[in-house]
Amino acid sequence: MIVPVAWVTSLENWFQKHQRLMPWRSNPNPYYVWISEMMLQQTQVDTVIPYFNRFLTRFPTVESLARADLQDVLKCWEGLGYYSRARNLHKAAKIVVEKWGGMLPSEYEELQTLPGLGPYCAAAITSIAFLNPIPVVDGNVLRVFTRFWGIFEDIRLPKVRETLFEQLSPFIKTANPSHFNQGIMELGATLCKPTSPTCKNCPLKADCFAHKENKTDTLPVKSKKAPVPHHVIAVGIIWKKGKILVAKRKETQMLGGLWEFPGGKKKATESLSETVEREVLEETGLAVKVKNEHCAVKHTYTHFKITLHAFHCEILSGKEQPHCSDELKWILPQNLETLPFPTANKKIITEILSSLQSPNL
Ligand code: SF4
Repeated sequence: MIVPVAWVTSLENWFQKHQRLMPWRSNPNPYYVWISEMMLQQTQVDTVIPYFNRFLTRFPTVESLARADLQDVLKCWEGLGYYSRARNLHKAAKIVVEKWGGMLPSEYEELQTLPGLGPYCAAAITSIAFLNPIPVVDGNVLRVFTRFWGIFEDIRLPKVRETLFEQLSPFIKTANPSHFNQGIMELGATLCKPTSPTCKNCPLKADCFAHKENKTDTLPVKSKKAPVPHHVIAVGIIWKKGKILVAKRKETQMLGGLWEFPGGKKKATESLSETVEREVLEETGLAVKVKNEHCAVKHTYTHFKITLHAFHCEILSGKEQPHCSDELKWILPQNLETLPFPTANKKIITEILSSLQSPNL
């Protein structure tokens, strides 16, 4: 017989009353839960909702996703970042169709055999879509339960994650697994925030160590990250007969499958123009002369920041060859938006389209 635990019951009741409306919550079929969980990694709910709706309109079933061209999937994902998630989803959809006839497996271990599905995502899917009692341990859960149980170890350490998984496992078995996991994540997102948690409205406050001991400012313990490096990148907007040259990044690279303007990282000893000329020659075989700078944009990735300078370029000699990319393409500026680009390159495209005055090259 399952004996109810007071704080678990409070959590479930609170979740049922206060959960925010999300499109995947009204119909938690495994495909929807899978897509939502992949999108929600490192990304806020409000950002994900329009992407989720668009993605499901474009690829309503796992079969439609498996059949799709990767470029269309990346285009649908454009702007959401962490593009390996989209590539993995596409690969995994093909496997689900081929191996399981389009039915996502329900078991925690089996889900983790699919590309891009780690323990966190697998736990979320198996518990929300299949009601299997596997606890999710994400950043929200780490924060809530290091406070709730008074755990003073660095939450960046894998062993804290493992400990919480073990400690939560018996409790989720006393509950509806979907409400239990979603309740904790919802609590972490809406009440037990990193700073100034709203303890007075919290269903766990009666048993919460940090609340009772006034330790919400000191928990969780989290070591500082190393400073993020900053790279200066220079790229060429290379013109020929009103078209611009773009390169498709290799599938195996970061941002693989997305398109970009040829260019690369500036060396300490060279000017931005020299960087463009060197990189374009290395990547495409074209010798170019750098003209005026069109714009400079900034973008932050997880592990580094970039400032990207874009220069108009004139071809001096050579025939373009994809030395460092999967493909090169000449494209009219007004068609640039038909291809998937990383966000920093999208900012350049916006600048190009807003000026749309091709230089006299
Ligand atoms: S009582 Fe406060 S610190 Fe404790 S879990 Fe709730 S919101 Fe977080």
